[in-house]
Amino acid sequence: MNAVLFVVVPLIILAILTLVIIVIISNFIKKAKRIARQGFGTDNLEAILKQQELLDEEPKSISGMTSIYLPKLQKDFPELNWMQLQNTAKQHLVKFLEDKGFAKVKIHKNSLYEYKKESGTCYATIQHAVEYVKPDEKKVQTRFNVIMSYVQDAEKMGYEKAYAVTCPNCGAAITSLGAKTCEYCGSAIQPYNIRVWELSDIIEC
Ligand SMILES: [Zn+2]
Repeated sequence: MNAVLFVVVPLIILAILTLVIIVIISNFIKKAKRIARQGFGTDNLEAILKQQELLDEEPKSISGMTSIYLPKLQKDFPELNWMQLQNTAKQHLVKFLEDKGFAKVKIHKNSLYEYKKESGTCYATIQHAVEYVKPDEKKVQTRFNVIMSYVQDAEKMGYEKAYAVTCPNCGAAITSLGAKTCEYCGSAIQPYNIRVWELSDIIEC
C-alpha cells in the first residue's frame, strides 16, 4: 500500500502540474492572438507580414493647400499653365531621384503646398508623394517639396539672370516680364510663361 502511494501520488502531482502548465500556455497563446487581432486585424503571421508590405505600398499623404494657394498664384500669373508647371516640377524631381541611383520612380500625386513672394521673386512649392526603389531593391514611400521660383521684379533682383528673357524677333532684353509685346520692335512675345519658372530647391519632407 505504501509503495503504491509512493508511485501514484507523485504521478498525480505531475499530472496536475502538466495540466496547469498547458492551461497557462494556451491562455498565453489566446492572449497573444487577441493582441495580434487588435493590432493587425488578424492573428495570422503571414497576413501580418503581408500587411506590412501593403503599408510599404501605401503612398504618403500630402498637404493639399492647392485650393488656398492656386487662386493666388493664378491671380499673379493669369496665363500660367498650372498643369505645365506641375509637369516641370515632376520632371525635375524624377531626374533628381534617378541621378541618386533610384529606380522605378513613381509620383503618386502632388499639390501646391505654398506660394509666396519674397524680394521680387515668387516661390511655388509643389509637394509630391513619391515612390522609388533603392539599389538594394527596397521600396520607399516618401514626400518631396519641389520649389519653383520666378523672378517677378527684375530690378529688385538686380542681376543678369532676370534679363534672360529676350524678344524672339530682335533679341532685345525684355525687362518687364508682364509685357506682351517687345518695347523695341513691337512684335508679340511669349506671355507669362512656364519657361521662366526655374527650379529653386528639392527638399525631402
Ligand atoms: Zn523685339
